[in-house]
Amino acid sequence: MSDHRLSEALEVLKGSGVRITPQRHAVLDHLIHSMTHPTADDIYKALESQFPNMSVATVYNNLRLFKEIGLVRELTYGDASSRFDCNTTDHYHAICNDCGKIVDFHYPTLSEVESLAEQVTGFKVSHHRMEVYGSCETCQLKKQAH
Ligand SMILES: [Zn+2]
Ligand SMILES: [Zn+2]
Repeated sequence: MSDHRLSEALEVLKGSGVRITPQRHAVLDHLIHSMTHPTADDIYKALESQFPNMSVATVYNNLRLFKEIGLVRELTYGDASSRFDCNTTDHYHAICNDCGKIVDFHYPTLSEVESLAEQVTGFKVSHHRMEVYGSCETCQLKKQAH
């Protein structure tokens, strides 16, 4: 499944005329195989030993490029670091208040919300984002242990 997604993503890159460097390949591979919505820094740390000459800026530039092509979504939360999500299908996020973990969940798209918003505000709605916040299972267990 993930390997299929990787080869598909590589095809999209090729189709956009983007040169696939070993670093670019590694960043994309890491993003597709990690389910954690990593930051550029997380990816940098994971690949540091493999590519000692790579900088966080390189990782970030690659992520921005992937975003422009539509391979990843950038999730900004008003804090220092954006997280990157290679799941570009409609889905929602549950975010842990304690450790910051983001978990995907699916729910039939709330398209009625978009049409209601258009009626009420006169906006042409492009998309919506919904998040639930709480304490993840791991953090709940940690709290119980104390
Ligand atoms: Zn947590
Ligand atoms: Zn996600």
